[in-house]
Amino acid sequence: MGALKWPRASDTLPTMILHLDMDAFFASVEQLDNPELRGKPVVISGQSARSVVATASYEARKYGIHSAMPLFQALKLCPDVLVVRGRRHRYKEISCAVFSILEEYTPLVEPVSIDEAYLDVTGCERLFGPPLKIAKTIKEKVFQETGLTCSVGCAPIKFLAKVASDIHKPNGLTHISIEEMDDFLVGLPVKKVPGAGKRTTQALSSMGIHTLGDLRRFPKELLIKKLGLSGQRLVALAWGKDPSTVSPHAERAKSVSTETTLEKDTTDPQFVKAVLLAQSDEVARELRRKGFYARRVTLKLTFSDFTRITRQTTLPHTTDVAGRIFEETALLFDRNYKGQRIRLIGVGCAEIETQKSEVPCQLDLFGAVKKRETHDEEWEKVEKSMDDILKKFGKEAIFRARLKKKE
Ligand SMILES: [Mg+2]
Repeated sequence: MGALKWPRASDTLPTMILHLDMDAFFASVEQLDNPELRGKPVVISGQSARSVVATASYEARKYGIHSAMPLFQALKLCPDVLVVRGRRHRYKEISCAVFSILEEYTPLVEPVSIDEAYLDVTGCERLFGPPLKIAKTIKEKVFQETGLTCSVGCAPIKFLAKVASDIHKPNGLTHISIEEMDDFLVGLPVKKVPGAGKRTTQALSSMGIHTLGDLRRFPKELLIKKLGLSGQRLVALAWGKDPSTVSPHAERAKSVSTETTLEKDTTDPQFVKAVLLAQSDEVARELRRKGFYARRVTLKLTFSDFTRITRQTTLPHTTDVAGRIFEETALLFDRNYKGQRIRLIGVGCAEIETQKSEVPCQLDLFGAVKKRETHDEEWEKVEKSMDDILKKFGKEAIFRARLKKKE
């Protein structure tokens, strides 16, 4: 890359951060590609009655339909809603086009998801004009090149940029200047703060705290005592101090996961483990494809009453091996499962590193270094050769005997 040095946020330059979010992304792509869907309530979802809505078009949202809602509920709210199966590759394609537009303005682009990103445009002024103008240009360019609209928020700190992008959705552009920031913070409802979960919001509201202004007036020590780290974070945010910076490629290093909504609820541990094994395979393959190693393994279960549990293990060494991921999730399952009817199963890996950590060594009685007894190395060999076969002969070429359906 060239000699042009991109400035980062510094004391001399007020930081300016953009948050861009495509509007009803999957649904908008479908409406773009299929004119007969335009102006109509559309949801992207699997087709079975047990599927969950991935995205709802704005027409569908008018009926109260939203993402993560079970499809049957969406159909109840709007029986005429058009259910479209998603096309990941197409969304990915458009996403790439959008991200390459963003990277024309700054290398400091942090993808949050397929349709969402932060940009640090501090110091880009001389090249592209003030932040608001950059935001406008980006919106226009995205529309010209993809035919889709997005909403952009522009603020001196990261979390406010995200809050701002949501204010005038769809096709919105909202700018919170340094001068306006303080008033804005004081009036901001706590529940609008990204990362403030239901439990935190409820705890705060029981203390009479509804806005960041309320939070500022509350004794800080008491808040931290009650809410711990999340209390500390909220206090800082309330005073306009957001330590998080825009870090390019952070998303890629966050987590890899998969989940499956079962065709039928189950209480059969053997069946659950077969699913866990398939999911471990999928996640491990994804890790290997990206050259990642994970330190944390997560099991997620949703039950038929929609309650859910998430349990995780931190490994003594990082892994990209399905056998290890499977053993850990199966163990978590055995320890935590109490016979409920299971609706959804998920496996995830987090705390991703790009370097493999050594298997921790144990000293035996004679002081000799001995490797911890694991099967990881054998598994590794088997799985790497499975990767090669899959690459050569396609998806159906090989599968674990245990996954073969009993007829
Ligand atoms: Mg979006």
